Amino acid sequence: MRKLETARITEAVRELVIEAACELEPDILEGLVRARDREESPLARDLLELLLVNADIASRERMPVCQDTGISVFFIEIGRDLKIEGDPEAAIQEGVGLGYREGYLRMSVCDPLTRKNTGSNIPAVIHTVPVAGDGLRILYLPKGCGSENMSSLRMLPPSAGPAGIVDFVCETVYAAGSNPCPPLVIGVGVGGTFEKAALLAKRSLFRPLGQPNPRSDAAELEKTILERLNREGQGVEGMGGSNTALAVHLEVFPTHIASLPVAVNIQCHAHRHKELVL
Ligand code: SF4
Repeated sequence: MRKLETARITEAVRELVIEAACELEPDILEGLVRARDREESPLARDLLELLLVNADIASRERMPVCQDTGISVFFIEIGRDLKIEGDPEAAIQEGVGLGYREGYLRMSVCDPLTRKNTGSNIPAVIHTVPVAGDGLRILYLPKGCGSENMSSLRMLPPSAGPAGIVDFVCETVYAAGSNPCPPLVIGVGVGGTFEKAALLAKRSLFRPLGQPNPRSDAAELEKTILERLNREGQGVEGMGGSNTALAVHLEVFPTHIASLPVAVNIQCHAHRHKELVL
């Protein structure tokens, strides 16, 4: 059985946190370039160009892409044949605290009732899944809450069907307006239970930008929603144009015969997501 020390996890997460804050992934940069090149509104095109310039400066000068450096969200896949010496979640929390402090990233995490800042940006939200093999895969997303706050979940009646799903997702995005800093990435979770739908929506944000769901009916829904949003939506930063969203990622899971949960997790253009394998 392969062994892994928690010190390695802490150090890797520390670096990951700083890197993610300052550097957008190629799929997001390419998505913004494609949006700029197809945009017909001069104002929206200029705004998209500014977002690209901002991302370039952040990367070159090792500065955060956005002042909201987010609350840290992790999906951790731990191989069943991997023996971790110690507590992997504690190691991740320590790495987050170090990364935010040493990277001079804004501390945004507070107690929900007293609103007192924890002063370290921890605790991070960690979802751990056991998988086959002896590896450790860490998926990381610092989630800004201008976009997180615009997310929504509804328990639709099964009779709402695919049309009801499309309507609910689009209504959620229309209601959000410019608050989540479009152009957006829309994560949608359909099925399961109340909490499963929300997790599906969050997890879908880690998919490479615009990669369709392998299920053709789910991919068709992604396409329908994206086209409608970009035809009728508010556009870049709510200033019009045809790029309200860069992509829609929709995940499905079997549900109860009496239920149709749909969760919409909105992500902004500063879609900072990173992945590493130890
Ligand atoms: S929604 Fe995104 S781009 Fe807007 S302030 Fe928050 S992190 Fe920054």
